[in-house]
Amino acid sequence: MTEEKVLVLIKPDAMARNLSGIIIHDLSQLKLKMIGLKLVSVQKHLAEKHYEVHKEKPFYPDLLKYIMGEYHNVHSIIAIAYNGENAVQKLREYIGLKYPDEADPISLRGRYGKVNSKTKNIDNVIHASDSPENGEKEISIWFDKDELVE
Ligand code: ADP
Ligand code: MG
Repeated sequence: MTEEKVLVLIKPDAMARNLSGIIIHDLSQLKLKMIGLKLVSVQKHLAEKHYEVHKEKPFYPDLLKYIMGEYHNVHSIIAIAYNGENAVQKLREYIGLKYPDEADPISLRGRYGKVNSKTKNIDNVIHASDSPENGEKEISIWFDKDELVE
């Protein structure tokens, strides 16, 4: 089987609630190889590039605010690049569906996600690329080549 690369982002809500350690620990049971990891202060151009596919959606401006940490008063998030067999499906299943109340209760979004009662933001804790092609593309957006190990 071929290996796939996936970008994971530990989103600002998870950073604000100090969940990064437990999330990385939980993800380790998927036995994927970590090939890059860093803290990133997300500037507007990076947020726009990452979420370009959503730029026509009504929630796009709020999504940029969310990933830039404006809703949670957070100044950096964690970006991780994983590599492994079937990595996209393994990670997407493990993180769960977008809306926390629809996500499997044992998934990361089911366990830790919620709709924020104040901002109404979907605080869904984590991002993972949804295809091998997007995995490659997103990793190249977030990481320089020399920040990755093979
Ligand atoms: P996923 O993160 O599961 O790949 P999408 O690609 O559909 O989901 O959306 C990207 C992100 O945009 C979501 O994780 C969520 O943070 C935000 N989002 C998606 N749909 C909405 C919506 N209807 N209202 C607010 N935010 C949304
Ligand atoms: Mg997506």
